[in-house]
Amino acid sequence: MLKRSSIPPYPQFYELFYTYATGVNPSLNNRINAIFRNGTSPSSDLAETLYEEFLKSDVDDRLTNVSERMTARIDAVHDAIDTAMTSATAYSGSLESATDDLEQALSPESFRALASRLLNETRRMQDTNRALEQQLQSSRDDIAALQRDLDDARRESMLDPLTKIANRKSFDEGMDVAIADASRTGDPLCLMMLDIDHFKNFNDTYGHQTGDQVLRLVAMLLKSNIKGKDLAARYGGEELVAILPSTDVEGAVIVAENIRKAIQAKELLKRSTNEKLGRITASFGVAAFQPSDTPASLIERADRCLYAAKHAGRNRVVSEKDLEGSLRRAAG
Ligand code: GH3
Ligand code: MG
Ligand code: MG
Repeated sequence: MLKRSSIPPYPQFYELFYTYATGVNPSLNNRINAIFRNGTSPSSDLAETLYEEFLKSDVDDRLTNVSERMTARIDAVHDAIDTAMTSATAYSGSLESATDDLEQALSPESFRALASRLLNETRRMQDTNRALEQQLQSSRDDIAALQRDLDDARRESMLDPLTKIANRKSFDEGMDVAIADASRTGDPLCLMMLDIDHFKNFNDTYGHQTGDQVLRLVAMLLKSNIKGKDLAARYGGEELVAILPSTDVEGAVIVAENIRKAIQAKELLKRSTNEKLGRITASFGVAAFQPSDTPASLIERADRCLYAAKHAGRNRVVSEKDLEGSLRRAAG
C-alpha cells in the first residue's frame, strides 16, 4: 500500500498501514476506507495527518519536551558551577599572595591595603556564592517539576488512551509479575478475558464514536468490579482482560459473572441525543495458571474458553473447568 501510494516507508507510515491492516483501530480504518472510496490516493501529507490524529501519542511529545528542558537545566547548572569555580580559584590565588605578603614585615599602609583587597575579594566571592545558590535553588525547583512531568508521562504511557485502563504493554508486564509471584508463592492466579458480543453490528448501526463510548463503559464496569492487586487491561480492539492474583477458578468465575451481569444490566443511551440504544453483552473466558504456564500459554487457554463461550451462544462465562467437563462428557 505504501508503494502504491508513493508514500516513503518511514516507520510512522509503516505503523499507520500496519494498524490499518490489522484492523484494530476501526475509526482509522473507516477514515482510510473513505479516502480510498473517494478515489483520492493517500499522500505523505495525508498519511502524516492521519498518523498525528490516530496514532501519535502525546506522551512522545511530552517526553521529548521534558528531555529538552532537562538538558537546558543541566547546561545552566554547569555554567553556574564553572563561574563559581573560576571565582573560587581566583579567590584562592588572592589568599595565597596575601599569605606571602603577610610573611614579610608590612608597613601599616601596605597592611591596610592588603586588608581592604582581601575584604573586596571576599565580598566578590560571597556574591558569586549567593548567585550560585540561587541558580541551584531554581534548578532544584525546576528539576522537581520535570520529575513530576516525567512521572505523569510514564504513568500515561502505561494507559490505553481510549479507555484509560492499562494498555497492552502494562498487561504484558503485569502478566510477568503475576506469573513470577504465583510460581514463587504457589498462590492461585487466574486470567479473565472478555470480548463484546456482536460489536461490529453495534458499530455498524450506531457508529464508531458511540461504539467507543460503549467500550469505555465496559472498561469502567470491568475496572470497578475488580480490586486490590487485580489488573484490568485492554488487550486489543474490543477485548479486555483482567489478571486476578490469589484467585482460584471458582472465584474468577464469580468476578466474571458479576461483570457480565453489570454489562447486560446497563441500558445504553446515546449521550448527544439521549436516544436509547438497547443493551450489549459480552462473553468471558477464564483460565487458571499452571506451574508450566508461560504468559502466552495462559492467554491462549483463556482465549480458548472465550471462544467456547461465543460458540455456546455468547453472553456467558466459560472456564477451563467447564471445558474439561464438556470434554469428559463428550468422551463418556
Ligand atoms: P463476536 O460476538 O463474535 O465477538 O462479534 P464481534 O462483531 O464483536 O466480533 P469481531 O471480532 O468480528 O469484531 C470486533 C469488532 O469490534 C470490530 C470493530 O467493529 C469493533 N471494535 C474493535 N475495536 C474497537 C474500538 O476501539 N472502537 C470501536 N468503536 N469498535 C471497535
Ligand atoms: Mg473480538
Ligand atoms: Mg466481539
